[in-house]
Formats: sequence, structure tokens, C-alpha cells
Amino acid sequence: MRGRVSVARQFRRVHRGRGWRLYSGVAAVVALALVVACATTGPGKRDIILISTPQEVAIGQQVVGQVEQEERVLNDPVVNAYLSRVGSRVVQVCDRPKLAYTFKALESDEINAFAVPGGFVYVYTGLMKELGNEAQLAAVLGHEVAHIVARHSIKKLQQIYGYSLLLELAGGKEISPAARLIADVGATLILQGYSRDNEFEADEYGTLYAYRAGYTPDGMVELLETFQDLDQSRHTFIEQLLATHPPVPDRIERVEEEIGTFPASALTLPDHAAEYVDIRSRLP
Ligand SMILES: [Zn+2]
Repeated sequence: MRGRVSVARQFRRVHRGRGWRLYSGVAAVVALALVVACATTGPGKRDIILISTPQEVAIGQQVVGQVEQEERVLNDPVVNAYLSRVGSRVVQVCDRPKLAYTFKALESDEINAFAVPGGFVYVYTGLMKELGNEAQLAAVLGHEVAHIVARHSIKKLQQIYGYSLLLELAGGKEISPAARLIADVGATLILQGYSRDNEFEADEYGTLYAYRAGYTPDGMVELLETFQDLDQSRHTFIEQLLATHPPVPDRIERVEEEIGTFPASALTLPDHAAEYVDIRSRLP
């Protein structure tokens, strides 16, 4: 009898001990997660983000290295400075304004633009030539900045790696483990991996940011209508701007609904067509 009690006590002691060790391990990881978690990911929106901003920037820089090796950055400081100027107007009123963003034109006939985690936005000259005013460009940049604000690619990484990513990053301020992930995941996944909901969200925030930056929100509608008119087969793999998923008419409908919630004066805001046409005439 006595012996059995002793065994039971021992069992409880051992397992309580184990339980505590396991618990304290989880607690340490959870505590670490809370340090980087709960980031603003949109207007009035917060999400648990386990990858810190420095880690995200390190991941982005790896992708940027690959992009700038494969693509040609437009060698015209006037156009790139103009992109940065319009981009910074959008950034100032976005929900993640403290990140250091860069905006660059890529010389190519691709009718596209894309965002890399960590604040890097690229627009192809092929798309810039299709646009008619600065409000449409602000809509493009707003859409891309929104992907970065909403951490769409970062959330996808978290989904794939989940708890193991958290443990790997638990080492502290090291950025190399996060950067190493890129080798496994590849830039393609980061750039390609937007869902239908991600695209609707980027349209929604992008429309809001362009409006807050002082542009007519009609720029987004005009941009989407331009895509609708273009040959759909010309879309590239990088972004879903021209892709059929989600269908462009659905995107236009949602954006028009959103604009309906803005004050009527929103549509009287300028589109800065003259300035835009000047810049466009410089494009090769
Ligand atoms: Zn997008």
C-alpha cells in the first residue's frame, strides 16, 4: 500500500516536473511571440505577426537581390524620384508608415507591378505607359503598399512554417534564420502567393490610401478598367493585377462600393494628369 502511494506520488512529481518544464518552454516562446505579435495590418486591423520587421526586411532584401539581378532597374533618376514622391504620399497615410519604403521602375513591357516584403515596390514601365494620370499610379502604389502593410507574404510564410518558424526565430535578434527561410521558400512563392482575399484587401486599402493621400479614388476604378480592356493573356506570373482571379469586374464592384462610403467630395480630388503625362513621355 505504502509502496503504491509512493509510486503514485513519484509519478505525480515527475510528471508535474515535466509538465512545468514543457509549460515554461511554451511560455518562453509565447512571451517571445508577444514581443513581435499584434501588429497593425490595415485600417483598424491587427494580426499576430511572428516575424519581426528587421527579419522581414532581411527576407525582402534577399528577394530584392534576386529581382534586381533578373530585371533591369530603369536608369532615369527623374522617373524613380517621381515614383518615390507619389509613393511617399501614399506611405505617409498608410497603416505602416514607419517602414522605409523604396519605389523603383523596372524597364520592361510587362504590364505589372509588385511588392516585396520589407517595403520594396516595383512598377514596370509597361504598366506606367498604360496609365493616364497620377491618381491611377497612386492606386497601383497603394495596392502594392497595402500588400506590405497587410503582411500578406509574411502571413503565408507563417502559415507554412507555423510553430517551427517560431522556434527557429526564438534565438533572438538573429536575422539569418529568417533570411535562410528564403532559400527554402523561394522568391516565387513570396511574389506569387496572394489569395483572392489578399487581392480584394489590397484593392480596398490601396483605394483608401490613395484617397487619403489626396487623389481621387476613381484612379483605382480607372486602373481596373484599364486591366479589363487589356488582353488578359499578357498578364505575368508575378502579380495578380491582371489575373482572372479574382475577376476584374468583381474587383471594380467592390472598389465602387467602398468609394460610396467616402464623402462625395472625394471624387472632386485631383488626378494630376498633366504631371503624369510629362513623366510618361520620358519612358523608354
Ligand atoms: Zn496584388
